[in-house]
Amino acid sequence: MTGRRPRRAPPPVAGQLLDWTDAKHWARTQAPCRYCRKPTFLRDDERLPADKVCAEQAITQRAARAASTYQQNGTL
Ligand SMILES: [Zn+2]
Repeated sequence: MTGRRPRRAPPPVAGQLLDWTDAKHWARTQAPCRYCRKPTFLRDDERLPADKVCAEQAITQRAARAASTYQQNGTL
């Protein structure tokens, strides 16, 4: 087979789940992080105040929970 494989984005890696260079993750004002309550300029993927570390930890935990639910139930 000589066809070229379609270019795909690499799978997400824990700790590198969000593109923090995107302006949507930055706010002009500080607000308490939704997880640890420390003031932050950053916003997570739901546009709620969250530190990078806290937001990515939460995403990793959500993914782990979804994976274990899938293993228990066979469906998501
Ligand atoms: Zn935090």
